[in-house]
Amino acid sequence: MARMTCKCGAKLNNQSAPNDIELVVYTDKEWDVICSKDVLHPWTIPSPKYEVWRCPECKRIYVYEPPGNTPVMVYSLEEE
Ligand SMILES: [Zn+2]
Repeated sequence: MARMTCKCGAKLNNQSAPNDIELVVYTDKEWDVICSKDVLHPWTIPSPKYEVWRCPECKRIYVYEPPGNTPVMVYSLEEE
């Protein structure tokens, strides 16, 4: 995943690193396995199972399961 167009029309890409588009989200179980290691270095932390993108315009959340390029979950902000 390098770029996509949100349903609201905003064009998203994660080419600048760090960026505000991609969220790093681990499940508690994934994180527990990582933290159970004796020595923890940032470069040894595995990528999370899911790739999560957030549109800065409409705040929609897109969840990908690499290497898939089709979101497995999409969330939009609930209207109050
Ligand atoms: Zn959007």
